[in-house]
Amino acid sequence: MKCKSCDGSKHFNCKDCSGEGFRLVGNQPCITCDGQGVIACATCEGQGKVGFLKWLKSS
Ligand SMILES: [Zn+2]
Ligand SMILES: [Zn+2]
Repeated sequence: MKCKSCDGSKHFNCKDCSGEGFRLVGNQPCITCDGQGVIACATCEGQGKVGFLKWLKSS
């Protein structure tokens, strides 16, 4: 089942760095996303799909 939280995209842009991978202040690698600019979807754990029971709960 496609993950409803991320709509199958598996990850979101990091809110703390707006997807840049670097923090605005100090130009340091973003800790939240580890410099990736994106964070894995927690609902599907980066899989883009979830089991049926979890899919029901995420609705
Ligand atoms: Zn970040
Ligand atoms: Zn997801």
